[in-house]
Amino acid sequence: MKQDIESLRQPLPSLTGGVGGGSFPILSRQIYGKPLVYLDNGATTQKPQCVIDAITDEYLNVNANVHRGVHYLSQEATRLYEEARETVRAFINARSTTEIIFTRGTTESINLVAATFGQACMQAGDEVIVTEMEHHSNIVPWQLLQLRKDIKIRVCPITDDGRLDLDVLPTLFSPNTKLLACTHVSNVLGTVNPVKDIIAMAHAHGVPVLIDAAQSVPHMAVDVQALDCDFLAFSGHKVYGPTGIGVLYGKEQWLEKLPPYMGGGEMIGKVSFERTTFNVLPYKFEAGTPDYVAARGLAVALDFVSGIGMGKIAEYEHELGTYAYEQLMQIEGMHIYGPAPSPVISFNLAAEGGAAFIHHLDLGTLLDRLGIAVRTGHHCAEPLMHRLGIEGTVRASFALYNTKEDVDALVAGIDRVRKMF
Ligand code: PMP
Repeated sequence: MKQDIESLRQPLPSLTGGVGGGSFPILSRQIYGKPLVYLDNGATTQKPQCVIDAITDEYLNVNANVHRGVHYLSQEATRLYEEARETVRAFINARSTTEIIFTRGTTESINLVAATFGQACMQAGDEVIVTEMEHHSNIVPWQLLQLRKDIKIRVCPITDDGRLDLDVLPTLFSPNTKLLACTHVSNVLGTVNPVKDIIAMAHAHGVPVLIDAAQSVPHMAVDVQALDCDFLAFSGHKVYGPTGIGVLYGKEQWLEKLPPYMGGGEMIGKVSFERTTFNVLPYKFEAGTPDYVAARGLAVALDFVSGIGMGKIAEYEHELGTYAYEQLMQIEGMHIYGPAPSPVISFNLAAEGGAAFIHHLDLGTLLDRLGIAVRTGHHCAEPLMHRLGIEGTVRASFALYNTKEDVDALVAGIDRVRKMF
């Protein structure tokens, strides 16, 4: 297994390897003369050659607008686009491709639900439950709805060890609760929330659930039918696919109930100035020219990870996360947030002989000079930072191409920086 994954780091002998290659060319880059150690996978993952090839092939050989032309290229582009939808369906085990909406990413998917569910199913005084560990993209859309409709946002707190407080969560439901929107895996703490239980709890109250799966889909098998979630959002670029493409899964009965999100081409049935009708699912939610090139790239990325096996990826990253946690904990002054082990590790570091943390930005900048890419800051989770009583952290987040050597480089880099302070 380790061999499988390490071999992915090797560039293909030639870039004309064609669709099906599996290397990550960018990983052979040097940064400031040092080999790149890329540990910012929570923000975005690098792309395998097969994804790059698929995008190039689309522009070289296929490109035409989808669903619009009788001509050959348009039909071929449409077939590839709809095959990509089927790949996504199979990947998350949705019942039907009518339940798979292509969006620009997790953020757009959640905004789509907040806007349309808010319009159709919520009144002033109704409530949505979110959690203290949400990314801003699962907070602000609800606040925008609050401005429009005067809804209430109820927040499930976290415990001191970085898990959802499941004693408090049941007390947040009221007769006015209309939706629960919750992250599957925290992008800061790496906490894997027990979403199956949470969904069952919400359903027992008659409340549908939206899952932000931005940080789970790249790391574990996600089965929407097994979870029984009502909506689920994820981004292509975090699962080795291109930017600009993401997915909203929605149960058909919910999507049928919701009004369109944006108006324009393709989402219509018939248009007149007197009366316009809307297209069937999933097209009702796909106004305008979709990013069919990125959709194809995403499908190739999902085939790529499926080919390795999500179970194997989860196992490998668990092993790597455990190793990273153990090694990082050996460093004096290290403070790790959230329950270990996880492929997402957020930390702060106290300076030698001092109690104060080295500023996360300083630590991140100095690591960068050693060729080590980590994320610093609040990670778009400011309410969580407030709860933790900090301004930010350094985050190392791992992907299937990272190795123990990458962890060792990080640990050595942190040691070096610490000695400088
Ligand atoms: N939710 C979580 C948990 C995330 O980690 C991210 C990306 N950092 C997002 C939502 C937003 O994803 P995107 O920017 O791709 O829309």
